[in-house]
Amino acid sequence: MDATTFDPAAGREFIDRVLVLGHHSDSDAHYTRTYLTPAHQAAARQIAEWMRAAGMPVRVDATGSVIGRYDAAAPGRPTLLMGSHFDSVRNGGKYDGVLGILVPIACVAALSRRGERLPVAVEIAAFSDEEGARFQTSFLASRALVEGSASLAPLLERRDADGVTLAQAMRDAGLDPARADGDRIDPATLAAYVEVHIEQGPVLLDAGRALGVVTSIAAGTRHLLKVKGEAGHAGTVPMAMRRDALAAAAEMVLAFEERAAAAPPLVATVGILKVRDGTGNVIPGEVEFTADVRAPDGATLAAGREAMFAACHEIAKRRGVALEIAKKHEVESAPCAARLQDQLAAAIERVVPGEAAMRLPSGAGHDAMILAKVTEVGMMFVRCGAGGVSHNPANVFLMRGVEGEAVVRLHAPQPIEEMRADGAPVTHLIGEGDADFALPPRDAPATAQWTQDVLDGKVRAPAALAREVTLIVEHCRTAANAGRPGLKLVSSNALLSKP
Ligand SMILES: [Zn+2]
Repeated sequence: MDATTFDPAAGREFIDRVLVLGHHSDSDAHYTRTYLTPAHQAAARQIAEWMRAAGMPVRVDATGSVIGRYDAAAPGRPTLLMGSHFDSVRNGGKYDGVLGILVPIACVAALSRRGERLPVAVEIAAFSDEEGARFQTSFLASRALVEGSASLAPLLERRDADGVTLAQAMRDAGLDPARADGDRIDPATLAAYVEVHIEQGPVLLDAGRALGVVTSIAAGTRHLLKVKGEAGHAGTVPMAMRRDALAAAAEMVLAFEERAAAAPPLVATVGILKVRDGTGNVIPGEVEFTADVRAPDGATLAAGREAMFAACHEIAKRRGVALEIAKKHEVESAPCAARLQDQLAAAIERVVPGEAAMRLPSGAGHDAMILAKVTEVGMMFVRCGAGGVSHNPANVFLMRGVEGEAVVRLHAPQPIEEMRADGAPVTHLIGEGDADFALPPRDAPATAQWTQDVLDGKVRAPAALAREVTLIVEHCRTAANAGRPGLKLVSSNALLSKP
């Protein structure tokens, strides 16, 4: 494909579409789109419409995922599946998930406009439920696509906060869970699965890179640790005679932190800690807490976790408290295929020349890890801004690349590498576009001037950005006030709340 034939307007259209989808929210106050709410169903219809406009027949599967298909040049060719999810967490970020749907739609639209077909079919799966915020499910949609009704059956009687069951919500939306087996994807037809996603972390931002290649999706386990000591009167039991469950748990929490910090990329998080019958004047007798431990591969995870648990047992013994550890949740790591990593790296290096594409593991789970059970997967990360936060409205799509070049180019997503005739998958998610607008410069004072110029109408900013400049300024002030001067006025595309 010849990059010079690409229409840069498609890139701006892409950004506009993110904004349009952002309007389909369960809440007026923030961006929340949970499974099968009216906003969720409206987003599904909108995505289907864009797929059709891009030249794809569309089907909706048993869970409400919207799947568009762009046939290969010849029949009987394998399918490159691309996609991500269009549900969100509560008060989430607009780019989370939808990026991996809208980028491939833009790519297919470009092919379609030119009447080109690839040697493989392309299918784009807009997964209806990945976060699972409404029914406490995760990967419901991609799991059903891969595993059929066996994965759905145990979930159907789950209720949302209003007492509506998942089965009822599906029926109300015109979906039939019993169809899930018929809608399963046949792995034999797949060439690979490729997903574009925001990084949801600060690594690319820190490294000054706009894009990265995912090496593997982390393995993770969540355990519940129960510490039993002895409750007693806060005034009468001498310190030396206490068996304080909370003090012991506190030392264990620090042991998790210390051991993970000493062994990157291992990470450990205690997110919930409960003091049973906690009272101000009682020595805590029983405490439970969660420990979420993740690593790029299972062996690293197991070794790190066992060392942490050993430390906890040592603390328990020394403090005379009992410790029980129960596994609550486990996901296996999903390595990304080496050939897909190399192709994604080559694609990135073509638009950001001069340095090898950064490779990094994904600490967060993605639909790709479900697809990895049946086909090779590849993932490309896009930097997010605001310190790399995600699952957060400040999940900005920070595109200030090598002197801003990557920004320009990412405003024009485009296939840049053809699927080879031998069936090797395309990895072409980004492309070239003309810089017909001014980008924020690199250093903070100049950027501040640029922002003022945009506000004064002296400089032209990308359309989507121009609407957001005020919000960016506001956001940057907040960041600066929070003592994060590195975030000053660098967001090129901050979409912090609904325009
Ligand atoms: Zn996501």
